[in-house]
Amino acid sequence: MYQFNFHKADNLSTAVELFNAFDEPMYIAGGHTLIPTMKQRLSAPSDVIDLAKIPDLDAITLAGDTLQIGAMATHAKVAASSLVQGHCSALATLAEGIGDRQVRHRGTIGGSLANNDPAADYPAAVLGLGAQIVTDRRTITADTFFKAMFETTLEPDEIIQTIHFPQVDQAVYLKFPNPASRYAMVGVMLTRTAGEARIAITGAAASVFRAAAFEEALTADFSLPAIDAVTLPAETLNADMHASAEYRAHLCKVLIKRGVNALSS
Ligand SMILES: Cc1cc2nc3c(=O)[nH]c(=O)nc-3n(C[C@H](O)[C@H](O)[C@H](O)COP(=O)(O)OP(=O)(O)OC[C@H]3O[C@@H](n4cnc5c(N)ncnc54)[C@H](O)[C@@H]3O)c2cc1C
Repeated sequence: MYQFNFHKADNLSTAVELFNAFDEPMYIAGGHTLIPTMKQRLSAPSDVIDLAKIPDLDAITLAGDTLQIGAMATHAKVAASSLVQGHCSALATLAEGIGDRQVRHRGTIGGSLANNDPAADYPAAVLGLGAQIVTDRRTITADTFFKAMFETTLEPDEIIQTIHFPQVDQAVYLKFPNPASRYAMVGVMLTRTAGEARIAITGAAASVFRAAAFEEALTADFSLPAIDAVTLPAETLNADMHASAEYRAHLCKVLIKRGVNALSS
């Protein structure tokens, strides 16, 4: 590890002011991605600005039908929250399946979304549930938030404040985890609202994406035969030491089918 300066912000505007005062600043949440990348010298901030002391940035509340989760809420807090379990148990299940106990007690939903790791779980939740990402300056829909691998539409100094999850009728999250890291080889969030199916897939491609052909078929007829002939082209999917693109395409369909079964029973 090399020298850097550490700052604690006690509100959002101070955090932004600090960020804009330095040459190579970065925000830190739980440090579960940032610290390893600094150790490997993949990132080298001159100044690290800690968001952990900003009051209520980890709050979980319900406003009408909308579940609001603060960016600093850890995965463990989301998994254990009775508000989350009551609003969308699939979201609590997803949080409970992230990494191991240590990861769940340090890693945050805001850090996960800002990082946009292609195999992270929360991007599938946010996109599949049609959530909105509220920052210190605007509201971004999930459909426009994720740009590419490790890239989002956030400005360099922009801070995720809360994530707003609308009520859906049904939701299920199914993940085929990498046995070592628990990151998703493939993770599928399948939801239904007023008969409309919505599917977000993580782990399979460079960034989370919606499975439009499956959504269309399942919106017309929510049954297994409806997706018999639907396939996911392997050409755009990831191939690495863990799985070929064809295997990932197959896995996506298997998990979607299991999701249809789960929501039909
Ligand atoms: C061993 C291991 C296993 C893991 N397994 C999984 C898994 O199975 N599934 C999964 O989804 N994830 C997994 N993770 C990732 C982990 O869950 C964290 O979500 C992720 O590392 C982000 O960590 P963090 O919240 O501590 O953010 P940090 O590391 O502190 O920050 C990450 C990035 O986000 C930026 N940032 C942080 N908060 C904000 C904010 N509020 N606004 C704007 N920018 C912000 C930072 O500047 C930085 O660029 C794993 C991590 C490890 C180390």
